[in-house]
Amino acid sequence: MPHLSEPVLPEFMTSVRPIDFLLHLLFPDRCLFCRDLLPLSDGLPLCSSCRVKFTPAGRICPCCERFFRGEGSCTCHPVPAPLRSLYALSRYDQQWRLLLHDLKYRKRRSLARPFGVWLAREIVLQKYCVPQLVVPVPLHRHREQERGFNQSALIAGHTARALGIPCRQLLTKNKDTVSQTTISRRERRENVCGAFSCLSPPPQGSVVLLIDDIYSTGATMKEAAAVLQSSGAKVYGAVVSYNPRIN
Ligand SMILES: [Zn+2]
Ligand SMILES: [Zn+2]
Repeated sequence: MPHLSEPVLPEFMTSVRPIDFLLHLLFPDRCLFCRDLLPLSDGLPLCSSCRVKFTPAGRICPCCERFFRGEGSCTCHPVPAPLRSLYALSRYDQQWRLLLHDLKYRKRRSLARPFGVWLAREIVLQKYCVPQLVVPVPLHRHREQERGFNQSALIAGHTARALGIPCRQLLTKNKDTVSQTTISRRERRENVCGAFSCLSPPPQGSVVLLIDDIYSTGATMKEAAAVLQSSGAKVYGAVVSYNPRIN
């Protein structure tokens, strides 16, 4: 029996509907790392041996970039920043680099579901925040047309569904920025400055979960969070991978 203070997943996240069972028989889930077949998933897409080896990343303060434990925000800043906190499933090591590359460039869209459901699971189990709305970080329409999809929107859709809350594309990216991957930290900030605007404002005071695939310097997510906050939302970020090695 779980300890009283230990968070448990709500029943709608753990109940197995007949359709899930049928889908599992037809298309069984596989471990993200070793591709072994998984039993009917509990939302954590790793086999028992990969679970033991995997260390999750967790909560990161977007201001001082330190990992921290516990609920709420880091103590380094008395006033909440537009991006109040960040939750990352993983550190961006070789394995995650390959997985996210597969999703984005080899168009393995089926990866969005395990990422999205896993994020939802951790957000509840770690008591990260209680969002009312999930919002993906948008791509510029040219980039989205070129790729055929926005990976963050795919992930966000699955996170929202698993949490039982709506996913809304409230933001749009007006500036077709150069790729963030080849430029410095300062250039990244300048690159995304004024890049986003709000298509429709989130409800005043609502808690919004902002989702992206990778967080590096945070320039993109902080800019997007500032736009949502100016429309009255409290913004928490969540990503699949955290990649801090940028100067
Ligand atoms: Zn495995
Ligand atoms: Zn801090």
